[in-house]
Amino acid sequence: MESSLRDKYEVVIGLEVHAQLKTKSKIFAPDGTEFGKDPNSETSPITLGMPGVLPVLNKEVVNMGILTGLALNCEIPERCKFDRKQYFYPDLPKGYQISQYDEPICVNGYIDIKGKRIGITRAHLEEDAGKLVHAGADGIAGSSYSLVDLNRAGTPLLEIVSEPDMRSSDEARAYMEELRNIVRYIGVCDGNLEEGSMRCDANISIMPKGSKVFGTRAEIKNVNSFSALQRAIEYEIDRQIEIVEEGGEVVQETRLWDDNSRETKSMRGKEDAHDYRYFPEPDLMPLMISREWVQEIKDKMPELPEAKRQRYMGLGLSEYDASVIVEQMGLALFFDEVLKLGATPKIAVNFIMGEIAAYLKEDHIEITETKLTPENLVELISLIEKNTISNNIGKQIIVDMMKTGEKASEIVEKRGLSQISDESAIKEICQKVADANPEQVAKYKSGKVQLLGFFVGQVMKETKGRANPKAVNDLMKEILG
Ligand code: ADP
Ligand code: MG
Repeated sequence: MESSLRDKYEVVIGLEVHAQLKTKSKIFAPDGTEFGKDPNSETSPITLGMPGVLPVLNKEVVNMGILTGLALNCEIPERCKFDRKQYFYPDLPKGYQISQYDEPICVNGYIDIKGKRIGITRAHLEEDAGKLVHAGADGIAGSSYSLVDLNRAGTPLLEIVSEPDMRSSDEARAYMEELRNIVRYIGVCDGNLEEGSMRCDANISIMPKGSKVFGTRAEIKNVNSFSALQRAIEYEIDRQIEIVEEGGEVVQETRLWDDNSRETKSMRGKEDAHDYRYFPEPDLMPLMISREWVQEIKDKMPELPEAKRQRYMGLGLSEYDASVIVEQMGLALFFDEVLKLGATPKIAVNFIMGEIAAYLKEDHIEITETKLTPENLVELISLIEKNTISNNIGKQIIVDMMKTGEKASEIVEKRGLSQISDESAIKEICQKVADANPEQVAKYKSGKVQLLGFFVGQVMKETKGRANPKAVNDLMKEILG
């Protein structure tokens, strides 16, 4: 779309994010929540919606709800309650979902994204539905029917609803990424969009620039990655502008994002709240949350991503480096261990963001899946700082350390890699290189001083990179005169 058309409109975005809480059992039933079990093996009469069964609230779900609310700067009201949301779908055997309607567990929060505050209206607890496996999928090729797997039914969800405060797909992505970071660091959710442990519905509308009245929103479902979220929003903005430019009206509806064809498609008209016939869940008492309970959880709050970034920047890391490390929780926790052991931050960061990150990326693994320990990285760094080995040698052996778990000192010893700093030894090798290359020496002496690099390179080759580079430079110059 022409940017001039885009410039006429302001975009308004609000996100509803479902985070699957990592409890061992379900929100109202004792069945397990582990992913990938045999279909319908993690079910109980409660999950199956049998008549006469009663839900029992899992306390750990509430703990995680409070923890997340606090991390999102929410108020935790003294009282919340559960409600029934009625709708029919084959993956919902009860015919209703237990959710929270007018008294959610968390209200009035916010997170700050690069200096901009995004409001969080509420976060409420609810149960997930089961899953339909459609014809041809999951190995039932050629089938003309759908199967239902209720293992996921009753898995606890926290739905986090933002205010319509975002104004671009970049902002929406940044908000979503920070939310993912937060739930991962506080340990309540895997935050995996591809696997669906974190899911996002994007509400998008447009209005003429300068207007105070929001346009009609479309709700986009089925965005399974950060980049898909951005693409879906961009597509939707163009679609809505086109409609309005042609004199039409955007209708309130739910649309599905198709990441292959890269477009949204209408799925259904959007229900209004009254269509769901919400009423208070009669089988569960309202939940009273004492201030002591909230305080107890507050006391256990781990360091949040933003605080971590600030701390890293305080150690001299650039904002970019700090963000990149925080984005990868495994690396950040590893880095913290290394810092605790007293390593110089800058050298540690260079290894972590350089060779280590590259190796992890190539093999698609986490640092915990390698054999490198924080202690061993710290030892490697100390060898460099003591000039026992050069930085280059350090870079050469770090991958082996990740693969074998060997200590740097062992590898250095075994392969004879320690740095040669002894002047007379280096001088001897420099002389040898000069003697072997009389023509180059002559050229150097006649003014081609850039040949120094050639001689230094030869010495490094001769010493397999072990010679102290500064000493080689100085001594070579001296010999060449
Ligand atoms: P529902 O469940 O019906 O979708 P919610 O209140 O749970 O309603 O969520 C509405 C979401 O839509 C919120 O994230 C809110 O910020 C966002 N929203 C509301 N109005 C608009 C609008 N005009 N444009 C974009 N987003 C909006
Ligand atoms: Mg919605």
